[in-house]
Amino acid sequence: MSLTEISARASVLTGADRELLAQTLGQRASFDAPLAPHTYWKIGGPADAFCIVETSAELGAILRLAFKRTLPWFVLGSGSNLLVGDGGIRGIVIRLAGDFARIDARAHDDGVTIVAGASASLPLVVAQGASLGAIGIDSLAGIPGSVGGSLRMNAGTDREFGEFVRDVTVQTPAKPEPHAVTPQYFYRHTTLARDAVVTHATLQFASGDPVAVRDVLQKRLVRRKNSQPLQYPSAGSCFRNPPGDKAGRLIEAAGCKGLREGGAEVSEMHANFIVNRGGATAAETAALLARVRRTVAERFGVELELEVHFVGAFV
Ligand SMILES: Cc1cc2nc3c(=O)[nH]c(=O)nc-3n(C[C@H](O)[C@H](O)[C@H](O)COP(=O)(O)OP(=O)(O)OC[C@H]3O[C@@H](n4cnc5c(N)ncnc54)[C@H](O)[C@@H]3O)c2cc1C
Repeated sequence: MSLTEISARASVLTGADRELLAQTLGQRASFDAPLAPHTYWKIGGPADAFCIVETSAELGAILRLAFKRTLPWFVLGSGSNLLVGDGGIRGIVIRLAGDFARIDARAHDDGVTIVAGASASLPLVVAQGASLGAIGIDSLAGIPGSVGGSLRMNAGTDREFGEFVRDVTVQTPAKPEPHAVTPQYFYRHTTLARDAVVTHATLQFASGDPVAVRDVLQKRLVRRKNSQPLQYPSAGSCFRNPPGDKAGRLIEAAGCKGLREGGAEVSEMHANFIVNRGGATAAETAALLARVRRTVAERFGVELELEVHFVGAFV
């Protein structure tokens, strides 16, 4: 191992930091914990600390510690849009749970309102909203994220998460009490501050006939099942669609389907998916992403932009 590699992989937490995290979270703080099981790609090295945080008070305490000690930290949602480096993530990885998993969905005269914690599963939110007739919620069907990650990514299909957001609550290291923010939403990104942890979001939908909404939803799920390689670990579409085109179409036309680097393979079923065929590393996956990008640029002069977020140590 090179010196660069050794230093990129060395924990930045002191014994006192570890003790404080263990005192605050008990068994819900684990150390040098592998992240691969927490990502959809099943790839990634260890976190110095993996912290399951269940209340706003606990989140405030962890963010205050990070602020005071200038420790790096990262909030992990469902891990469905992430490539975690083989060297893992230095500092504290926060995974919200407990109070943050609640969903309160109600139909009323003005439509359907859903108040959801950031760790609530988007598929569950979609199912509950559809059964109340939330119009447009079908456009979020089959996206396997959490509410917080989907807000950060402005996830969606023909309609996007941000279109339905009414209120957002966050906590940050500099302002660790829950407070409201109003981000703007763009194609697969938002103006949400980098250091903001989304804790809750209120979504608002017009209401329609629940049977009709569930029917459209079901059709979308079937279409996705028939066009996406859901039997293998992946992070969904790897590249953003360039203006007026589809990344998948360009990748396929450039002849990249089936390309492989170790255990990582460009899916034969959907060219914008890279699947883990078994034991793929982050280095292999990153190398394959770079190869696809280069091939498309050489063939069509289009520089594809990554949709998946790279995080952690890649040395
Ligand atoms: C099979 C498959 C199909 C997919 N289909 C689609 C699709 O149709 N459309 C689409 O847009 N995406 C799709 N995705 C990608 C992914 O599901 C979405 O981007 C999802 O919204 C990410 O949510 P997550 O909770 O998994 O976030 P993660 O992958 O865990 O994190 C993504 C980013 O959000 C940040 N984040 C997570 N939680 C919070 C929080 N509480 N506060 C602040 N920041 C946070 C993370 O730090 C990270 O930067 C697909 C993925 C898979 C595996």
